[in-house]
Amino acid sequence: MQCLLCHRQIREAWPLGSLILPQRKRISTTCAECLGTFHKIRLKTSCVGCGRHQGSKNLCQDCQKWQAKVNYHFVNHALYQYDATMKQYMHDYKFQGHYQLRHVFARVFSQFIAAQSKADYLVALPIDDQTWQTRGFNQVTGLLEDLQTIEILNMKRNADEKRQSQKKRHERLKTSNHFQIDVECPEQIKDKQILLLDDVYTTGRTLRHAAETLYAAGCRTVESITLCR
Ligand SMILES: [Zn+2]
Ligand SMILES: [Zn+2]
Repeated sequence: MQCLLCHRQIREAWPLGSLILPQRKRISTTCAECLGTFHKIRLKTSCVGCGRHQGSKNLCQDCQKWQAKVNYHFVNHALYQYDATMKQYMHDYKFQGHYQLRHVFARVFSQFIAAQSKADYLVALPIDDQTWQTRGFNQVTGLLEDLQTIEILNMKRNADEKRQSQKKRHERLKTSNHFQIDVECPEQIKDKQILLLDDVYTTGRTLRHAAETLYAAGCRTVESITLCR
């Protein structure tokens, strides 16, 4: 197998005396050197509100502002730092449309979600029609492996409005809520614990819009997990 990022051959290690038969062992998609260029976030030194990498567990300034602004419970956990390496990866995966790059993080992200979650339902953030047409895939569900999600949110955006990724920070924070509950399943989610899944937590505005929509539909708690922050 060639590494998805550097395209060099990956040498699989088969430890002597291993009880795992070779055909049962998962083949690596990314070499150790490439994986080592991404930086995991440690729970002990990240913001308890949004998962941001920092020196302590204290609420970061962004989260303090959110706390002053909204009156519902919402926290995010993130697995990796959204640093230059991760930004390049996201660019290649999402905007260059290299769908096979989902395999770099699909397993580790899905295991992270499965280990954290006591939720009733997992909900991957949807993308709008225009993004479907240009990208051809939902980057969040691409990152999920062996996890069952439900589709209860729709995303509708005006044709003339910019995408979140094209907006400046202050524009993102002002965006209006484009999420709607799928009309076929309002009863299913009443009083349930929902875990939202997304690729990147940037300002937190999009995830909170989704959370507000779900709380308005009667969900008991809404939290989120993102691949990076
Ligand atoms: Zn590599
Ligand atoms: Zn925070």
